[in-house]
Amino acid sequence: MASKTPVGFIGLGNMGNPMAKNLIKHGYPVIAYDVFPEACKEFQDLGAQVTESPADVAERADRIITMLPSSPNAKEVYTGANGILKKVKKGSLLIDSSTIDPAVSKELAKAVEKMGAVFMDAPVSGGVGAARAGNLTFMVGGVEQEFNAAKELLTCMGSNVVYCGEVGTGQAAKICNNMLLAISMIGTAEAMNLGIRLGLDPKLLAKILNMSSGRCWSSDTYNPVPGVMEGVPSSNNYQGGFGTTLMAKDLGLAQISATNTKTPVPLGSQAHQIYRMMCAKGYALKDFSAVFQFLREEESL
Ligand code: NAD
Repeated sequence: MASKTPVGFIGLGNMGNPMAKNLIKHGYPVIAYDVFPEACKEFQDLGAQVTESPADVAERADRIITMLPSSPNAKEVYTGANGILKKVKKGSLLIDSSTIDPAVSKELAKAVEKMGAVFMDAPVSGGVGAARAGNLTFMVGGVEQEFNAAKELLTCMGSNVVYCGEVGTGQAAKICNNMLLAISMIGTAEAMNLGIRLGLDPKLLAKILNMSSGRCWSSDTYNPVPGVMEGVPSSNNYQGGFGTTLMAKDLGLAQISATNTKTPVPLGSQAHQIYRMMCAKGYALKDFSAVFQFLREEESL
């Protein structure tokens, strides 16, 4: 265990925090950085080295994982004034697990390649619970020969690590998944709300849906109605979890990809509008399952 070489981790938020902890549990010394110093404190106590910039991380580790909110943050961390590329070592493996525009992943891969290092996109599916339990699904894009090296680290944080193809294809898979997730979450919230209005007990309705053909992840693992399930954001005033603003971002990425490929995605487009409206109406920082609360508030207007 002690012989494992350090792994850099940049972005210690809702997802990055438990993911980096799982690397530590597997015996990897972690070199940590987050732009928000408070996020690093806990890692100092766990024995991780906390650094001042992404460039410092690159100086001390030749394998780095990034887990950032969106494309501009990823560009800043890789190519910014104190970015990874300022000090990256030749042969380093840089894995970006953020959900970003596949075109940006490709841009970053080119810039990384110029420095003699390797870039892979490896966005994840599974919420904060899966990140804590170490059973995320990773969708990996990049040079196939490097996949095993990435897998060694990713299996410490996930139970499924799937090779998708060239750089950007991990993001493509992720964007499709999240578009479907948003549609199914809105559908679950609508169905649950209608059932409640028709006099059904929400717990009973969820139980019936979950033994019937309407069952989906949003109904059986992440139900959006407060009190139906324990340990999910809906039962914690929609705190933690996967922010509405992040979902709106992913749906925006799906819209860009759909436009670029001339693919009709009418429900994805409607879901994008709903999540953007939620952001404008004060839901930005709440978990995306708060669409249930949003529908209830809209109907009372
Ligand atoms: P988050 O906002 O909780 O965490 C992001 C972290 O990155 C924050 O701590 C922030 O301070 C840090 N950060 C931002 N800019 C930075 C910079 N320039 N340098 C260093 N650190 C910086 O977000 P999250 O929920 O952990 O999500 C991270 C990514 O994972 C997103 O792309 C999201 O779409 C994706 N994702 C999230 C979930 C989920 O359930 N939360 C699930 C799957 C995928």
